[in-house]
Amino acid sequence: QVTDTLAKESPSSPSYDWFQTDSLVTIVIYTKQKDINLDSVIVDHRDDSFRAETVIKDYSYLVHVALSHEIQEDFSVLVVENVGKIEIVLKKKENTSWKRLGHPQENHNSIIPKKDTGLFYRKCQLVSKEDVTHDTKLFCLMLPLSTHLQVPVGQHVYLKLPITGTEIVKPYTPVSHSLFSEFKEPVLPNNIYIYFLIKIYPAGFFTPELDHLQIGDYVSVSNPEGNFIISQLQELEDLFLLAAGTGFTPMVKVLNYALTNIPSLRKVKLMFFNKTEDDIIWRSQLEKLAFKDKRFEVEFVLSAPTSEWSGKQGYISPALLSEYLKRSSDASKVLICLCGPTPFTEQGVKMLHDLNFSKDEIHSFTA
Ligand code: FAD
Ligand code: NAD
Repeated sequence: QVTDTLAKESPSSPSYDWFQTDSLVTIVIYTKQKDINLDSVIVDHRDDSFRAETVIKDYSYLVHVALSHEIQEDFSVLVVENVGKIEIVLKKKENTSWKRLGHPQENHNSIIPKKDTGLFYRKCQLVSKEDVTHDTKLFCLMLPLSTHLQVPVGQHVYLKLPITGTEIVKPYTPVSHSLFSEFKEPVLPNNIYIYFLIKIYPAGFFTPELDHLQIGDYVSVSNPEGNFIISQLQELEDLFLLAAGTGFTPMVKVLNYALTNIPSLRKVKLMFFNKTEDDIIWRSQLEKLAFKDKRFEVEFVLSAPTSEWSGKQGYISPALLSEYLKRSSDASKVLICLCGPTPFTEQGVKMLHDLNFSKDEIHSFTA
């Protein structure tokens, strides 16, 4: 039924096929869409269950089967972008001929609105944890070999932990390993590490538990979500990033991506709001980047500075924004991204509207 509904809305719905050699089984998904890349498909296999979710705009197309034979843990994913074809190459455990791929599981071979798919989780191992500020840490999680998942720029995932007998989930935004990480498309295949900058709130519900994990312990990680689309950066000339506290996290990949992949880009300005100097995440990396790449500028604004602070002070304000948000030319294509505590983001968006920036020129990161 759902397939029928979509068929009416879109001229071509996805389909799949499979074929085999002695040692391999290849599943081919024909999305019939052009803007498909390695971020678009999320693959998991666990025991005999195989699940490939292809994200096509606001829909998910699922190939979901209980495989008829055993396969090895690792597999490869290839995307032929110009025809929207995805190939998933599985390695057979035994060189026997398969009569069928497997038994269909829930929603197999159907296309459903993404909001109705529910979040799918896999267990990831904590590989390292490094102090970044007095209360913020860089966590590195390793995806299982039996998963292919790349979090698109500007999107977040949910982390899940059992806390006092209940499963608790909270959203977090993956970052690059550092501001100087290579960021060329397509992102390296087999990118099995996911990094997070997470502030630990001593009185918080979730983060103290996360902080108590030992290296080698597991956390469940969901499929990505979020409404930022990378095409918002195409042909951009001025990128302004307004981040408060850990609201810096979505800016990391946006910044790296824009500086590496957007040739039209002239200026990237980050206005980074924190309480004190000690709260500034990756300050020296930001300063180094500004030194190295003349297109990039950073301004720190503190709401509770010590008397020695000679830089900008206060909360987000119309005065700060009008001074800071200068287009490099009257007609330049601009995007302003905001992220931080809800009052920061809400007030910021309102101030930007008052400064005559249009809706299309503003992206706020929220849940
Ligand atoms: P909570 O239990 O939610 O408490 C947080 C703080 O509020 C604590 O200081 C607590 O004492 C206080 N508090 C709790 N309840 C009350 C109350 N009723 N009145 C007054 N104070 C109260 N965070 C990151 O660090 N990194 C990220 O990359 C990141 N990405 C995010 C992405 C999205 C889309 C969203 C929506 C949020 C993101 N966050 C991120 C925030 C994250 O999801 C959690 O909200 C955060 O980690 C706090 O979780 P917690 O359970 O430890 O704290
Ligand atoms: P924080 O308490 O350290 O505050 C950082 C700065 O935010 C302050 O210095 C101030 O300039 C500004 N600020 C705080 N409260 C304000 C208010 N009431 N009005 C105007 N400005 C205010 O911030 P934190 O503890 O790092 O929290 C970061 C917030 O960002 C969290 O609420 C988190 O949920 C959110 N966040 C959201 C996303 C997302 O939606 N995608 C991603 C990451 C973080």
